[in-house]
Amino acid sequence: MYKSYFPAYRDIVYLDNAATTMTPVEVIGENNYYLYFNANIHRSPHELGQKASNAYEEARTVIAEFAGFKANELIFTRNTTESINLLSNALDLSTKDIVLVPWTEHHANLLPWRHAGCDIEYLDLDDEGEIDLMQLKRTLDRLRGIYHRTIISFAHIGNINGVVQPYKKILTLTKAYGALVHVDAAQSIVKFKYSGVDFVSFSGHKLYGPTGIGALCIKEKHFKQLKPYQVGGGIIAEVKKHTHSFIEGPAMFEAGTPNITGAIQLQRACEFIEKLGRKTIFEYEKSLTNKLKHAVITAGGYPITAKGANIVTFKTEYHAGDVATLLGGKNVAVRGGMLCAEPYVRSIDENGLVRASVSFYNDELDIATFEKRLIEVCQRLKKSKTK
Ligand code: PLP
Repeated sequence: MYKSYFPAYRDIVYLDNAATTMTPVEVIGENNYYLYFNANIHRSPHELGQKASNAYEEARTVIAEFAGFKANELIFTRNTTESINLLSNALDLSTKDIVLVPWTEHHANLLPWRHAGCDIEYLDLDDEGEIDLMQLKRTLDRLRGIYHRTIISFAHIGNINGVVQPYKKILTLTKAYGALVHVDAAQSIVKFKYSGVDFVSFSGHKLYGPTGIGALCIKEKHFKQLKPYQVGGGIIAEVKKHTHSFIEGPAMFEAGTPNITGAIQLQRACEFIEKLGRKTIFEYEKSLTNKLKHAVITAGGYPITAKGANIVTFKTEYHAGDVATLLGGKNVAVRGGMLCAEPYVRSIDENGLVRASVSFYNDELDIATFEKRLIEVCQRLKKSKTK
């Protein structure tokens, strides 16, 4: 029913929503910025500049509220990857600090921490794919008093297993130890708000918005301990020949002219989702994902987890890249390979995994077509294997 909202949804069964969601006409809209107030923000003392600044700041307010934060707690970035790089740099981490992160995470939530010069300990998942809370507690007990800062960073919904982590329990546990919490919300921001979390990262293109825009939300009280990530125009209080000082708050992290149109379109995406209802989207996708899981099993695949919000990642007897490519040739869009989480995927299958992921615009017909095509693809690969 919703497919008609999405102009690019034509002649395809699109089950690659964990990579990028499609963008509805309502979000693409008319590009008001270029049509009506094409000017730079926060520096141009004229009406167009004022209108552009107002639109950009209104976007900040709406998107921050959508994430469970205040406007003065949201920094615009390019995407989740940049948000986590920004955070790990701005915290100015050293070996006096430690980051606890599941080793199963997306590379975007592993590599920035490895590059940050802090200590790292990896967390395990239990048999259900959830962060092992007992291990987390034992680790926090063992580390108590050793480090200046302890940061727990995890994806609320994993991009491989689609498992929804019990983030409130993790928050309560870690807060009792004075640790800081970063949630990688790339896969989950459509469905959840994060008031109470110290740091949250997400991307516009996974929430029905444009590419090239994302956000890092930071609780106001933490800004004091952060150093700028990139320096230049737009973030300066005063510059003398040999010294300079920075303005405070999110603007300190938005050097140069930002993605103004991206912010405005992302605001529209948040409003669009709110209108549909985040809970409704979550419940619908969960029930469709169950059907997707059955389709995978019927076609001879092996889902890697029993749970999964909107994602079913699976093995077959065949190479994941071959399965995904052949499905693509039949107009069924899925991902195959290491899925940007190589340690985790290799630990399950050296040949990679196939990931199918639904959105609220998918329907049972999509699942039935997927099942049929997956059976055909597996039959074809079986034939070429036995030749
Ligand atoms: N974190 C998770 C859980 C993801 O699924 C992704 C993308 O798939 C990212 C981070 C990186 O997002 P982006 O490529 O938009 O920076």
